[in-house]
Amino acid sequence: MTPMTVAALAERSGQRIVDGLQIDDGAPVRLIVAEGRNEAVGRTISVAPREGGGMDRAAWLELLITHELTHVVVASAWGEPPALLWEGLPVWFGDAYVRERVLGRSYAVECRALLELDRLRPLAPLWSHATYYGERKDYRVDVQAGAFCGWLLATIGPSRLPTLALADLSRLEPAWHDWLRESVPRDAARVDRLRALNLCRL
Ligand SMILES: [Zn+2]
Repeated sequence: MTPMTVAALAERSGQRIVDGLQIDDGAPVRLIVAEGRNEAVGRTISVAPREGGGMDRAAWLELLITHELTHVVVASAWGEPPALLWEGLPVWFGDAYVRERVLGRSYAVECRALLELDRLRPLAPLWSHATYYGERKDYRVDVQAGAFCGWLLATIGPSRLPTLALADLSRLEPAWHDWLRESVPRDAARVDRLRALNLCRL
């Protein structure tokens, strides 16, 4: 991809994020594509696209740029919210969005399958940065945070996210489970594969 194509991709992703979060953020962002870390520091994003997991470099580039760009937009508008939102929103706009489009894999369908097997992790511990990042090697952490944030945006809307409190989860988490059970399609093959994985219950 040429630098112009990458810039256009970042522009599109940025528009999708500010529309989704209803945040007016027009300040420039510096984007570095190179080997190394994927991170956002201030308004500088560094991404190191690779291939793998069924996706080519262009898909990874879009995923990583969108993920890090969401961090930049959220940080500039709200500071650093609890980890469940701080990572969940970038996972929703970046990872979940690109994987669903490219691989046809929905994070909500995955959570629906985990719920059926009683293998969803409780969300409250993921409020804390220490627990979120300490447990992130379990793929459910990002998948659940992303799917939950997507549901939050569609239900309570973005304007209420900055004031969301840990105590609100006691009401929102069961409502999210109800929605997964009643409104998200069941993927029988996915349920079977997950059952074979024998994930721990938490
Ligand atoms: Zn992140």
